[in-house]
Amino acid sequence: MISVRHFFGTRQLPAELEASIQIGAITMGPSTFPTIVSLKQIHSTRVTVLDRPVMPGELTPGEGDALVTNQPHVLLVVRTADCVPVLLVDHDAGVIGAIHAGWRGAVGGIVPKTLQACVEQLGAEVAHMQVAIGPSIGFCCYEVDAPVIEPLHTHYPDWVGVFQETTAGKGMLDLKKLIWHQILASGVPEHQVERLEHCTRCREDLFFSYRREGKVNGTMMSGIMLSGS
Ligand SMILES: [Zn+2]
Repeated sequence: MISVRHFFGTRQLPAELEASIQIGAITMGPSTFPTIVSLKQIHSTRVTVLDRPVMPGELTPGEGDALVTNQPHVLLVVRTADCVPVLLVDHDAGVIGAIHAGWRGAVGGIVPKTLQACVEQLGAEVAHMQVAIGPSIGFCCYEVDAPVIEPLHTHYPDWVGVFQETTAGKGMLDLKKLIWHQILASGVPEHQVERLEHCTRCREDLFFSYRREGKVNGTMMSGIMLSGS
């Protein structure tokens, strides 16, 4: 079976790794992660499929919010500060993915779209996937209003525990639970989906938070790589 390395980052990233990552580029990393791919994230539902060998510096992966590949020794990286990092693997097919999902991407369906790209373009099967939903702003801290609530009600009216109204036109959103529902609805068995409940806004000791700090002070890196068979 193919082995996989993955991590959800905190405020502290190993310096050699941090120095190697360049937004929107394919770069050379330390020996443990020879090739690193990072997108310029734009809160879209755009998925980039890397289905042939990639080398540092050879091309620019550009803009988008999800990366999938069947190539070994390529670290797929996403950056988040309150948004949700999602990592996935189909061990049988040798396919991995990394997704950056804020409310806009999540409501737009970037996660199901990424699973679909893995199936249609790389031969993965949803029944074989393992998916991990990483640290993000929690239900405790994520108040949203009409621009989020309206599409949510239109597309996902029945999902339990995703949204709770507080005052007129406002409410708390559990972004991780929304994504969890989407993954199950895509056909991934429930016991193969993990959800880390850490809240980036509550846990100042571990994470940067856009909501807490009012600006982007820093981001956490999350990554996944096929190590080969
Ligand atoms: Zn919180």
